[in-house]
Amino acid sequence: MATVLCVLFPDPASGYPPEYARNDMPVITGYPNGQTLPSPRGPLGFRPGDLVGSVSGELGLRPYLEANGHKLIVVSDKDGDSSEFERRLPEADVVISQPFWPAYLTAERIAKAPNLKLALTAGIGSDHVDLSAAAHRGVTVAEVTFSNCISVAEHVVMTVLSLVRNYLPAHEIADSGGWNIADCVSRSYDLEGMHFGIIGAGRIGLAVLRRLKPFDVHLHYHQRHRLPTDVETELNLTFHPTPQSLVQVCDVVSVQTPLYASTENMFDDRMFSLMKRGAYLINTARGKLCDRDAVLRAIQSGKLAGYGGDVWFPQPAPADHPWRSMPHQGMTPHISGASLSGQARYAAGTLEILQDFFEGKPIRPEYLIVDGGNLAGVGAASYRLT
Ligand code: NAD
Repeated sequence: MATVLCVLFPDPASGYPPEYARNDMPVITGYPNGQTLPSPRGPLGFRPGDLVGSVSGELGLRPYLEANGHKLIVVSDKDGDSSEFERRLPEADVVISQPFWPAYLTAERIAKAPNLKLALTAGIGSDHVDLSAAAHRGVTVAEVTFSNCISVAEHVVMTVLSLVRNYLPAHEIADSGGWNIADCVSRSYDLEGMHFGIIGAGRIGLAVLRRLKPFDVHLHYHQRHRLPTDVETELNLTFHPTPQSLVQVCDVVSVQTPLYASTENMFDDRMFSLMKRGAYLINTARGKLCDRDAVLRAIQSGKLAGYGGDVWFPQPAPADHPWRSMPHQGMTPHISGASLSGQARYAAGTLEILQDFFEGKPIRPEYLIVDGGNLAGVGAASYRLT
């Protein structure tokens, strides 16, 4: 019998379950790169479209785990030495958490979890786990690759348009009974004709580029591995050998690389000094890719016309985090990958990974980040241990 410690975000303030806005969900048959959808064996413990990421939803895991004699502990209180998460950690064989409400698995915490064998991210992005410490201890780290990439790409497109068109302030004016057109439009531009650049054209980055192509923008990208020539030709992409070269020519930039030691603070005062005055920056990857106070300075000086995204550090962000109240921002809590559509896929993928793990079957390489004491599978292509 194994103990699965699952850290989930709190239920809706209005109670659980919420009143759902729709009765059904579109049926997706596969991912754009040909990867197959999560394929757990047997019934799902939830109905696709249910809110499964919050405490009462339990990612739908209880029926499978209890039928197989395992113990499921669900907690929400996750930060600090006396949190419920820390108290239950010593008995955990498996820890599951979502990036939206990350259970930070530091080296110290891994040391407090002698039974830990699997750290599973229900979603994408395992930087909340100290990957070196996990590798050193022989803990496998896995995530549900591709599950919510399109969810995030749609959020990026929404944020690009919201910032460039000045949608949020104009909506607030309408909402509060106003009609000053000049106030609405004095920071509003068309996206058409602008130069848009992605740093990290992986699954999300490429999906954003494809979605923005019909807006008649000039598309740029920088990433570790150059994309195939046919993709560059199809999207008329300009490749940049460095992020610095990209930001100098782009009006709108979105960063989509994973977070690891050498991508932390990629956007600092020096990087902002290279950008065009009035550029927009959208970050849905990880908060620490941007220096918190350098973003604030860039907004205050007018170097950035807008900053948007959904990722912060730490999470949840403190009430006085400056990105909450700075001008010209389109920030949300970390939600882009947590749509009910995304939840259905990452909950199914979480079940698939647990089934493979408990039944001694190999976890799909595309789900593996760390295994056998080193980066593995997709993790070897996306992360660096230093
Ligand atoms: P991915 O691995 O497909 O894409 C990342 C790309 O960045 C890869 O192609 C990689 O080669 C490239 N890269 C890595 N380091 C680089 C560097 N230093 N410079 C340039 N390129 C580099 O991952 P993805 O599925 O597109 O997700 C990207 C990130 O988005 C995740 O790591 C995660 O942190 C974040 N994410 C956020 C949410 C959300 O809800 N906001 C959801 C999913 C993923």
